[in-house]
Amino acid sequence: MDSKHLMSTYVRKPVAFERGDGVWLYAADDKNGRYLDALSGLAVCGLGHAHPAVSAAIAEQSAKLMHTSNIYAIPLQEELAARLCQMSGLDAAFFCNSGAEAIEAAIKLARRHAHARKQPDARVIVTENSFHGRTLAALTATGNPAFQSGFEPLVPGFTRVPYDDLEAVQAALEENPGGSAVLVEPIQCEGGINIPSPGYLSGLRALCDRHEALLILDEVQTGNGRTGKWFCYQHEAVLPDIAVTAKGLANGVPIGVCLARQPVAELFSPGAHGSTFGGNPLACRAALATLDTIEHQDLCSRAGELGDYLLGALRARLSDCASVREIRGKGLILAIELAQPCAPLVDLCLEQKLLINVTAERVIRLLPPLILEQDQADQLVDILAGCIQRFAEPEKPGNGDLP
Ligand SMILES: *Cc1c(COP(=O)(O)O)cnc(C)c1O
Repeated sequence: MDSKHLMSTYVRKPVAFERGDGVWLYAADDKNGRYLDALSGLAVCGLGHAHPAVSAAIAEQSAKLMHTSNIYAIPLQEELAARLCQMSGLDAAFFCNSGAEAIEAAIKLARRHAHARKQPDARVIVTENSFHGRTLAALTATGNPAFQSGFEPLVPGFTRVPYDDLEAVQAALEENPGGSAVLVEPIQCEGGINIPSPGYLSGLRALCDRHEALLILDEVQTGNGRTGKWFCYQHEAVLPDIAVTAKGLANGVPIGVCLARQPVAELFSPGAHGSTFGGNPLACRAALATLDTIEHQDLCSRAGELGDYLLGALRARLSDCASVREIRGKGLILAIELAQPCAPLVDLCLEQKLLINVTAERVIRLLPPLILEQDQADQLVDILAGCIQRFAEPEKPGNGDLP
């Protein structure tokens, strides 16, 4: 491999995939082995790889029309916006190309909201351990000093509070009455799959209402059916003022969206914001095909059921593993937290042809495709539990054996 012409922003595994089929990935140099993908390209390919409905939609659209620019009407964009508004309970959409860009749009709306109310200090309250992306304002919102280090000065106007702490948000809102927004993930994903206490989101909603602040939910990773509902906030029947999503929306075609309630959405007037590629016919067609498939195959419910099944199976298999601190999840966002740092597990699983990820040092993160079948879920559990046992308790009899 020759990567000297790539900026080294990533630590890459020495494997290149050439093609995929459903939950399986095939490496270029490995004719007889396939990898079970329990990551979905970081929650992007919810329908697995090379899904025929999405591939056909992209092929057809690319042969017809890919891009015209937002100077002209784009019927597919209007159709997708209507669809997302109906799914989310919100009123209007702005399309861009990534999660970070969708967060930027939300932050710009929050600033317009404060200025419209003649509040010069447009403040966004964000949380520790959050992840909102790598552009400068999204990076500022991100609660991980390691990602921010060396990129100062960061963007002004952010206040950080602990996650899952309503009192801290209340104190921050009281300090800046009238001009604030609260930006959180309904589950902190990159930060270690931190699931807040029941009532956190509805508590935030009540606080934002009381202080006339905007509630912005980052559903970049949790959206599009992954937790068992279209949007994770729907588990608590909370309606935010703004929701953003991206990753799983078009099964691999870059797209991001910022959705807002009226009158918040109206704070963007013509010329206020824009994106050259945002919402082009190709991306919108891919997103519509993805959402159609999730809906027709009832994959939101499937994600919920399969998530419960995986939680149960992992807990049963790992019940006597002293190194396992907690196994938690919602739908197909699953975490196994160990007592020790466990980054080497990624390579152990890779050797066994299972793709997983470790975040926050000691948290194994699973984001399998929504189309995972039960026997594939069983294979996932077998391989992963075997690797965890060998990694965490190598001296225990039997654990040296390969799964
Ligand atoms: C991945 C992610 C982002 C950033 O999305 P990009 O498409 O990488 O810019 C933002 N928020 C959350 C919660 C994410 O998981």
